[in-house]
Amino acid sequence: MTEKRYTQEVFDKLEGLYPHEGEFLQAVKEFLDAIEPVIEAHPEYRQQAVLERITEPERIISFRVPWVDDSGQVQVNRAYRVQFSSLTGPYKGGLRFHPSVNQSILKFLGFEQIFKNSLTGLPIGGGKGGSDFDTKGKSEQEVMRFCQSFMTELSRYVGPDLDVPAGDIGVGAREIGYLLGQYKRLKGPEAGVLTGKPIPAGGSLGRTEATGFGLVYFLNEMLSQVETELAGKRVIVSGSGNVAYYAARKVEAFGGVVVSMSDSNSAIYDANGIDLDTVYELKVAGRERIAKYIETHPEATLYNGSVWDMEIEADVALPCATQNEINASQAEKLVANGVKFVAEGANMPSDSGAVKVYKKNKVYYGPGKAANAGGVAVSALEMSQNSMRQRWSQEQVDGMLQDIMKNIFQSCLGACQTYDLGLDYASGADIASFENMVELMLIHGVV
Ligand code: NAP
Repeated sequence: MTEKRYTQEVFDKLEGLYPHEGEFLQAVKEFLDAIEPVIEAHPEYRQQAVLERITEPERIISFRVPWVDDSGQVQVNRAYRVQFSSLTGPYKGGLRFHPSVNQSILKFLGFEQIFKNSLTGLPIGGGKGGSDFDTKGKSEQEVMRFCQSFMTELSRYVGPDLDVPAGDIGVGAREIGYLLGQYKRLKGPEAGVLTGKPIPAGGSLGRTEATGFGLVYFLNEMLSQVETELAGKRVIVSGSGNVAYYAARKVEAFGGVVVSMSDSNSAIYDANGIDLDTVYELKVAGRERIAKYIETHPEATLYNGSVWDMEIEADVALPCATQNEINASQAEKLVANGVKFVAEGANMPSDSGAVKVYKKNKVYYGPGKAANAGGVAVSALEMSQNSMRQRWSQEQVDGMLQDIMKNIFQSCLGACQTYDLGLDYASGADIASFENMVELMLIHGVV
């Protein structure tokens, strides 16, 4: 009988251990498939249990968050912090507040984060956390009370040199501000425990925009590799939150036309280009639904469903909402409507079937763990500024972000060339970051 492939053996074990963690298993499977050529070239990794170590978090902290709503009712939410790997530095990764949050989603996000952070070349390890708390429909006071209770417990496990969370879905500057306030009450005045802070509270200029801007810098590298550019291209952006909005702004700055945006209820389409000032008023400054856009823009089309179910002719797709938002048939639709480039602002927004469709149709595909690394990279720059007691200008930070995104692209491309993968940036990103991680793992011994 032939011996089972090492990658398969590890995956089968994880599937047996965590059968209900669908998102985590999906992220691991895609990663293991991509790094197969490296594993084949290094049979000695099996004895070192390199894959078992890299797929198991160092620890998961799980806790309850009791808080009192405005009617006096006590509510209880579940919360987690997954400290996945500290090989490359203090755990670093966002906090997500969304009703869908569970251990599987945070493990997949933490797993992706370790490779993303390693690609930035900055000294940050990987983690992720959050709660099934829904900020929608809550008063300011309720959000504050929840954040205070959440941080009361989390403060035992985080610190500027230990674990530095940031924002993610449902956690923006408002939530980070309340979390920081409570941390300071409990532990003292150090602001470097969180990133994505409001600027007066020690935040970095350029952090709010970094994920969306970085995504477009990465896209520009993908385009220039095949000797084309963003100017004149029609772009679909999903979501209308932090990542989506700033990605759309940067697309516009490079002369692209954002024809569609969305939220979790609906999508809008405007052939002449979405008016981003209106999107800002509705979704970034306000907490409204994107559907309201057509009240002031009757020329636009409103669709009550996923933007990926619409028939929109476009050149580029930037999924910036959430995981698994594009399936195989939606990917087929994108291809049929002319999309040649997909770069992911969200984490794992294309499911495994969609990724296969991209490959089959030679769509140039920038995976989230490389293309959306700009946010965490500028978070690491925020950590540096906090510990140096300095503040860098927006231009300085943006210049560094551009360099980092170029370097990430070059790392992906380098791995593609070494392993003869063409322009398969997804495999390139996995291989480049895995090689960094294994080198460090072997330096550290059996830990
Ligand atoms: P956000 O500001 O909370 O915005 C999320 C957007 O996605 C909102 O428009 C939201 O619509 C929409 N959305 C959420 N769940 C959805 C669903 N199930 N179906 C359709 N739309 C949905 O969050 P964000 O920070 O932009 O994060 C977006 C994605 O980027 C996430 O995958 C996140 O992990 C990833 N990411 C974020 C950063 C960062 O720096 N923030 C960095 C790297 C990666 P509603 O308004 O209806 O909720």
